[in-house]
Amino acid sequence: MKVFLDRNKTLLPRIDVIYLLARLMTLTGIAWMALFGYGTLEPPSFTIMAILLGTFALHLLLFYIAMQGRFDLKLAYLSAIVYDLLLIPLLITYSGGPGSSFYLLYYLTISVAAYVLVFWVATAFTAIACASYLAVIFADINITNLYDILIRIGFVWVYFLAISYASEHMRRSERRLLKLFDTLNQRTSELEKSQAQVEMIYENSRVLASILDSDGVVREVTKILGNVLQYDHFAMVLRDRYSNLFYRSRSINGRNNFHPQAIDADQMGLVRRVCDVGEPIRLKDLNGREDYQPLGEDSRSLLVVPMKSHGQVHGALTAESVNKDHFKERDLQMLSIVSRSAALAFENAELHRRTEELTVIDELTETYNYRYFVQKLQEEKRRALRYNLPLSLIMVDIDWFKKLNDSLGHEAGNRVLKQLSAVIKSCIRDVDVFSRYGGEEFMVILPQTTQHEAATLGERIRAKVERTKFETAMGQISSVTVSVGVSSFPENGRSHEDLVSITDQALYRAKGEGRNLVCTI
Ligand code: GH3
Ligand code: MG
Ligand code: MG
Repeated sequence: MKVFLDRNKTLLPRIDVIYLLARLMTLTGIAWMALFGYGTLEPPSFTIMAILLGTFALHLLLFYIAMQGRFDLKLAYLSAIVYDLLLIPLLITYSGGPGSSFYLLYYLTISVAAYVLVFWVATAFTAIACASYLAVIFADINITNLYDILIRIGFVWVYFLAISYASEHMRRSERRLLKLFDTLNQRTSELEKSQAQVEMIYENSRVLASILDSDGVVREVTKILGNVLQYDHFAMVLRDRYSNLFYRSRSINGRNNFHPQAIDADQMGLVRRVCDVGEPIRLKDLNGREDYQPLGEDSRSLLVVPMKSHGQVHGALTAESVNKDHFKERDLQMLSIVSRSAALAFENAELHRRTEELTVIDELTETYNYRYFVQKLQEEKRRALRYNLPLSLIMVDIDWFKKLNDSLGHEAGNRVLKQLSAVIKSCIRDVDVFSRYGGEEFMVILPQTTQHEAATLGERIRAKVERTKFETAMGQISSVTVSVGVSSFPENGRSHEDLVSITDQALYRAKGEGRNLVCTI
């Protein structure tokens, strides 16, 4: 049962000090009456007044202690009101009945009741006060004082209603104000949080811009999604060069997985659409969606934002929440900032990779250059030595190329070089390293290949070149042959210089034995 109006968290003034002062005045009044009598009446029995004075003083002391925070002040108010309802009739009885001015104390009691108690409890106390007042003066009511008494009672009620109304009105306004404060506080803290997030995202985006490898970009973006944006589950989806989608990183319940994994196209139609159209999608409820397979079993809502820069979509970022309708406009903006930075970073990394590649790629034939060949040969030889694996080297040299240049022109020679490198590429494996060694000489490093296997491959290349019709100018066809030298590790030497030199000697032998041949030493 609620008796008190809530005063724990209020902006309204505390009335305890005023109340205490008023009661001190009452105490002084009682003391005066005990000593000097009341008006024309004789002072009442000193013992009775001393008892009243004593209990009132004691009560006042308890109220004061409660005020210091040692008891609940609410209970102190309630006991003061109850105490007054007993004391005031006694005071009135001993100070002249209807003629006593102590009835004024009811105004004090009632105003406190109306200020701190709920309406119906305060009404009950007011009714009790009026009834007890009438009871103690009942015998003395006559026609001359009836009017005064009725006016007193009437004013008590009007006064009570006025204070109750004012108190209720103030409390209602206060509640509204407090609610407004709460909303304001909530908004401010949301704003602060989002500002901090934006700052962190920008900070991380700056880091992203300086990362030059795509693995580093993936890790940094995952860090932002997990640490800054704190999604329940999220993923980075990329496109391969045939536009197939695959997961590049996923985080489910805070556990990250960076391994690329193919995506079931049927269950990810939604992500595909985002990548194709290049526009984000926000889903309030994932229930019943056939075109999206959630990462987390408990996921309810989804946000998918394309990673787009310069009109090209590299993939998408997906974020899931366990709450329905979790993602708002603000979340979309945040994820869009990250996805744009990620797309730019991927572009940067790709550009960097291509620039790096350019320094090791021969422009004319688009094969690796001499620098890369030497570096790779050293690496492969070290590996072959460590794991005791065979390694072979093939050198291909065009026969009578000077003549071809002289008769058909340098441009025709260039065309032959390009076509020849395509022919050789078509004969070798992905793991083999094909490079232009210089002029019209090419090298192929063949890891885990024996001399016999290398010679077989050399023969295949030689035969295919012989069969190929080379276009030297528009509509002009020429035949070309090549001589091939083969050497292998470990039988032809243990250093990479030895291997190159033996291959060269084998090639020289092929030239010497009539060209269009494959030779070993
Ligand atoms: P051999 O059968 O003994 O190898 O005879 P060859 O004429 O092929 O031998 P040589 O090494 O004397 O000649 C190589 C020629 O390759 C010399 C040069 O004109 C030509 N050459 C080198 N680099 C290029 C190039 O980038 N483009 C063109 N068109 N010709 C080149
Ligand atoms: Mg030659
Ligand atoms: Mg040559």
